[in-house]
Order: sequence, then structure tokens, then C-alpha cells
Amino acid sequence: MKSDVKKWRVSLPLHEALQVFAGQHASAIYELNDASATPEAESFVAACASQHAGAAIELLSKSILAREHPALILQNLPDALPRPVTVNDLVGKRTSDANELYALAARHLSLDKRIVNLGKSILRDRNQAVHLGYSDHDLGEILDRISLWIYYLQESSGLKESDWLSSSASAAQYSRFNAFTVGIREAITDARAKFERMKSAIIDAHQKDVSRLSFSKWRQDREQSKLELHELGDLIAEVCPACESQAQIVAMIDDVEYEYEGPDEVSTNVFYSFAFECPVCELEFDDTEVTFVFKDGQSLAELQDRFALGI
Ligand SMILES: [Zn+2]
Repeated sequence: MKSDVKKWRVSLPLHEALQVFAGQHASAIYELNDASATPEAESFVAACASQHAGAAIELLSKSILAREHPALILQNLPDALPRPVTVNDLVGKRTSDANELYALAARHLSLDKRIVNLGKSILRDRNQAVHLGYSDHDLGEILDRISLWIYYLQESSGLKESDWLSSSASAAQYSRFNAFTVGIREAITDARAKFERMKSAIIDAHQKDVSRLSFSKWRQDREQSKLELHELGDLIAEVCPACESQAQIVAMIDDVEYEYEGPDEVSTNVFYSFAFECPVCELEFDDTEVTFVFKDGQSLAELQDRFALGI
């Protein structure tokens, strides 16, 4: 190792070095190229992205905790730590499990539960990429997931893109997140237009021939139609932001985690992946989009306002 690298590393307090390393991993995801010629290459790009995303979450969590106290990230409490602590002082010391540290950092920042779960899901995806060599998500999905996580993490921690990401990754994060939001707005607007076309056709037909379905009966039939298809997951009733019909979020159990809390005390954490679909206008959202669109306790008017729908 060249001495100037070591010199640079020990010149930074631990939490600052960890933030730099986290930013390097997060930035690296944006520099990956998805224009892969073969499925093998595409799979490898996704596995690399997944490993970088998990490393970014783990290292940023450590940085956030180490800023409070460096001992927080260690598995065993050390006898003494010098001040300031640098990464070199941690040689030979074990840091705690990434999931535990992330959970602790998330509590410290009061991160929203869905965002906490998104981060845990990114960490699980990283483990699969490390131990089995592949990711279930492609590069685009990994970017959507990590950019959403980064957006909320920054909002809670006060970090800014330019504090920890490279300049090109900062710009990419900013435009990626905007594109994600614009994509959601367009999906809602398109579904709304489609719904209005269907609605006029049904009303016209009913006016010409009263034996044809009325609009309210047609809507009711469609609202009921897909319920029976979802026996595998729990349904959460949600009003569709596009057509205001009764729709559902389907919650499928992704993973169950048991956490040892003390003698005879084990807490159970159930992780879900979500999908939204409206049986009337057919608007659909995947897991990442559901996490972003539907906030707990948000009214329909607030949701429509958030996406500037002007409905
Ligand atoms: Zn709808």
C-alpha cells in the first residue's frame, strides 16, 4: 500500500472516512453500464450494483453511528479508543452485523418503516449477490431502489448528494429520482385518461340503452373482479390516485426475521413486498413505487397534491 493512501486515510476521523467509502460505493452504481451484450454480462452488472448498494447502506449506517460514538459500531466494547478514532484503529476489531447497525442507524434517524424495510431488502439482495453471485433485480431496478433509499436517508440525516457522492453520481441521483417521480406522475395521468375514456363510453352506451351497465355498476363490478386473484397475499385497501376507485395493495411476505431481545424474548419482524393495482383503470405500481407513493396516514387529496396532478 502506498504511504500517501494510508496518510490520507488516517487524516480523516472514522465517521468521515466511512462516509467517503459509502459514497464511493453509492457513486460506483451510477457508473455501471447496463448496455450489456449478453445475459451473463447483464447478470454480473446487476450483482456488482447490488454489492455496491449494500456496501453503501452498511458503510453509511456505520458513519452515522460512529459520528455519535465509534464504539457503537463494534461487536465488543474496546478497553479504550484513541481520539480521534481513524479506520486504522479498527484493525483487528470486529464490527457488528450490517443489519443490526442499519436498524440502529434507522432508529436514530427515525426513518419511515417502509424505507427501513427497503434498506433491509437492499442488504438482503447484497447478501445474495455475495453468496450466490446474482441479483433478482436488474440494474435499473437497483438504481430505483437505492436512489429512493438515498433520497429519504438524506432527508432524515441532512446529508446532501454533494457531501458524499461524486459529482456525476450526484447529478445522476438527482435526475434519476426526478425521472422516477415524473414516471409515477405520468403513469397516474395516463391511467386517469384511460379511465375517463372508458367512463364516457359506458355512460354513452347506458344513455342510449338503459339495459346496458350503468357507470356505477360497471365500476363496482370491476372493483370486485380481481379480489379473488390474490389469495397469496394480504390485501390493503387503498383508493386509486388516478380514478378514485377502491383498489388494493397486495402485501406478500418476503422474509421473516427473528431478533433475540433477551432471555425468553424474541421479536419477530415480517418483511413484505408490495404491489398496487387498480382493477378499474389498471394503474399498477411495483414494490419500490408503492413505497414512494403511499405514505401511512396520507389522504387521497394529499397524494394527488404530492404528484401535482391537479385532479
Ligand atoms: Zn384506478
